[in-house]
Amino acid sequence: MSVSDIVKDKPIVNIPGCPPIPVVMTGVLAHYLTFGSLPELDDKGRPKAFFGETIHDRCYRRPFYDQGKFAKTFDDEGARMGWCLFELGCKGPVTRNACATVKWNGGTSWPVESGHGCLGCSEPDFWDAGGFYKALSVPADPLKIGAAAAVVGAGAGVAVSFANRAKKNAAKQTHETITVEDLEK
Ligand code: SF4
Repeated sequence: MSVSDIVKDKPIVNIPGCPPIPVVMTGVLAHYLTFGSLPELDDKGRPKAFFGETIHDRCYRRPFYDQGKFAKTFDDEGARMGWCLFELGCKGPVTRNACATVKWNGGTSWPVESGHGCLGCSEPDFWDAGGFYKALSVPADPLKIGAAAAVVGAGAGVAVSFANRAKKNAAKQTHETITVEDLEK
């Protein structure tokens, strides 16, 4: 149950997270005080300025994802090299939040920068969406990763695997249509 299920007669701005990012809450208040109106919201009532893109869209490890370079364990060579955490369960491709740009604790760091995948905490029902350390069944942009891996010649096996899964899940090929409810189906 969400707040909007209970409060029906007032506008609601959702600022989800575990916990929500303080800078995001402050930003929404500052917008209202400055302009006298609520910021533009997405279909889940979240401010688009902070939730308009996925963690994956803004992640500094994204070049490794596109090259098919993935850490396989939290202490392997890939992890030490800062490679993508997708195969360790990162939910960044299906999670919209500002962690990758705003970060935490005054811009000190954020989960992926500390070496742990995104848990997807700003998406509905994330606690019940499946294992934190199980890789998503559908990559965010399988066609792109397939092409990138073919060019660099790295992670080819992973790319082929993703491409096959992408065909199988053609209806879910864009991250805009994938929600946490779809995870690990
Ligand atoms: S899967 Fe996670 S670690 Fe990899 S690029 Fe996307 S958000 Fe970053």
